[in-house]
Amino acid sequence: MSKIIAVTNQKGGVGKTTTSVNLGASLASLGKRVLLVDIDPQGNTTSGIGINKADVSNCIYDVIINDVHPKDAIVPTNIDNLKIIPATIQLAGAEIELVPTISREVRLKKSLQLVKHMFDYILIDCPPSLGILTINSLTAADSVIIPIQCEYYALEGLSQLLNTVRLVQKHLNTTLQIEGVLLTMFDARTNLGIQVIEEVKKYFQQKVYQTIIPRNVRLSEAPSHGQSIITYDPRSKGAEVYMELAKEVIMSE
Ligand code: ADP
Ligand code: MG
Repeated sequence: MSKIIAVTNQKGGVGKTTTSVNLGASLASLGKRVLLVDIDPQGNTTSGIGINKADVSNCIYDVIINDVHPKDAIVPTNIDNLKIIPATIQLAGAEIELVPTISREVRLKKSLQLVKHMFDYILIDCPPSLGILTINSLTAADSVIIPIQCEYYALEGLSQLLNTVRLVQKHLNTTLQIEGVLLTMFDARTNLGIQVIEEVKKYFQQKVYQTIIPRNVRLSEAPSHGQSIITYDPRSKGAEVYMELAKEVIMSE
């Protein structure tokens, strides 16, 4: 059985890309066949996993706008079992170009259905907005992982996000589920982090992953080396926690 998971939160800097790359790499190192789909015009997942954007011939833009077959956009990474459909800055125009097109919300879904059988997990790294690219991702997905940064305004904006999820469930994807809520960038030295955890658990209850991602400098260094934490520093705390998360994701099947 394969599963498409959108990693989403319209706030920037909460750990969507870090989670997509490192959860993807962890699942792959546990033997799962994983496809990363970068649908953020910034393309941080693409460069973070070591793909040189100048070398990309087909990106996710070509798949959803130009009807390129997704197989022709998939490229390998330096990890066995981990592949990616990259994003380039070309994607920045997609929000506007999609507006007048037929079935604009279901373009990604239709494309990913063509390759779903080749993978155990497809992880979509969403942009920091609730625009048409995120709607495409929520429509294509079986479930969503919501990363929440352990900081003062953690819950701000979440009702908007959940409202968008409900609208997609109502009109475009009735079976969309919340896969889990992931607390990120936890700093054990502050009481604030602990308060945020309690608040988020009160709100989302059993949907919150047991695994909490701490601040770990190795996690922030890895992308500049074009590597996931699993190859960059497999003995780091960051690698340990993303492996734990991957096991939790697998266990919940
Ligand atoms: P988003 O994709 O939601 O915008 P990112 O994953 O790019 O967020 O994270 C924002 C920044 O924080 C990046 O520079 C990233 O390297 C850093 N970062 C993310 N998670 C952690 C962590 N657990 N510890 C330290 N730095 C992190
Ligand atoms: Mg990102």
